[in-house]
Amino acid sequence: FAPWEDPNEKPLIQFVNVTKRFGDFVAIDNLTQDIFAKEFFALLGPSGCGKTTMMRMLAGFETPTEGKILIGGQDMTGIAPNKRPVNMMFQSYALFPHLSVWENIAFGLKREGKPKDQIEARVSEMLRLTRLDRFAQRKPHQISGGQRQRVALARSLAKAPKLLLLDEPLGALDAKLRQDTQFELMDIQEKTGTTFVIVTHDQEEAMTVASRVAVMDEGRIIQVATPPVIYELPNSVYVADFIGDVNIIAGAATPANDGYDVDWAEGQPSLHVKTDKSFSKGQKCFLAMRPEKVAISADEPQDVANKVRGQIIDIAYLGNLSTYHVKLADGTMMKAQLANTRRLSRRSLTWEDRVWLSWTDTAPVLLEA
Ligand code: ATP
Repeated sequence: FAPWEDPNEKPLIQFVNVTKRFGDFVAIDNLTQDIFAKEFFALLGPSGCGKTTMMRMLAGFETPTEGKILIGGQDMTGIAPNKRPVNMMFQSYALFPHLSVWENIAFGLKREGKPKDQIEARVSEMLRLTRLDRFAQRKPHQISGGQRQRVALARSLAKAPKLLLLDEPLGALDAKLRQDTQFELMDIQEKTGTTFVIVTHDQEEAMTVASRVAVMDEGRIIQVATPPVIYELPNSVYVADFIGDVNIIAGAATPANDGYDVDWAEGQPSLHVKTDKSFSKGQKCFLAMRPEKVAISADEPQDVANKVRGQIIDIAYLGNLSTYHVKLADGTMMKAQLANTRRLSRRSLTWEDRVWLSWTDTAPVLLEA
């Protein structure tokens, strides 16, 4: 059982019918969501969808207009930020420039008046955890951006919060360092057993680090699931489109054996999809299908549930993969993605080639329009 599937597991965080308004503007719209201990929970969505507002309410910097937030079963209404078992790490890490790495990490513990030997032991532990031992005596300007990010993380974890909120923590790092740091974050989260809630607008980052991802739009959570479920079984066109690359085909569903036939374009054969969802006859729908599930070939494929003809308009070479942009007879554009292993030895497809696209009846997801 994952904690969110276990009916006996008590959530660490509960948003209960939370609405947040700024004047007339609804930033969070009647949102209810549980987050469990030790989760690495990602809030993902476009700019302005309410991610930071959710974090700020958890930390106590904003108050819900309606509804309540519980942490560890306790209602947080009226509880000041410094009295919550929560720490927040901001996008700009805001290290004290005149203090050493060691002193930056010790800062919060000193302010709490912890005994000297306890502070020393805890700072050493944090330096080890974030692999900063060698830099303890340096000032922030004497270390790299990635190392500064780790100091900020060590400082946030020093007081052993139950919950750490990370708002775009890796935003300032370049792509390669960002990837390395994602793995460090996951490692540190696992070692400390702290619950992490991360805000990001980078879908790959959310998919890499998170145990569960919440995809948000306009103050609402549209879908919450593990990364593979979000990717393979999006619950809406919005989620399918927001995460990764996708072909979306609009049509009308007619019940057919163990699924539906979807009529989608004049003069094109209907497309068959297997599903246990239920649609009424003629109901408007969308098929959502990842480009890597579409096969592309020069010769007509045999014994496959769905096939259409088209012409290659464009090819994007991505190293390990190539994406083929194919125009169908009715003008619809579709993408097919192919791994490039053995590409050099195979008769390769090229621009303007007439091709077949084909896919199985389980490749697309059938979604309501
Ligand atoms: P980004 O990815 O750009 O940081 P976000 O998803 O974190 O976006 P929020 O910062 O939560 O978005 O903001 C949600 C909405 O609420 C935005 O439209 C924003 O303009 C609005 N908002 C946030 N704080 C305030 C405020 N103090 N007063 C008025 N409107 C606000």
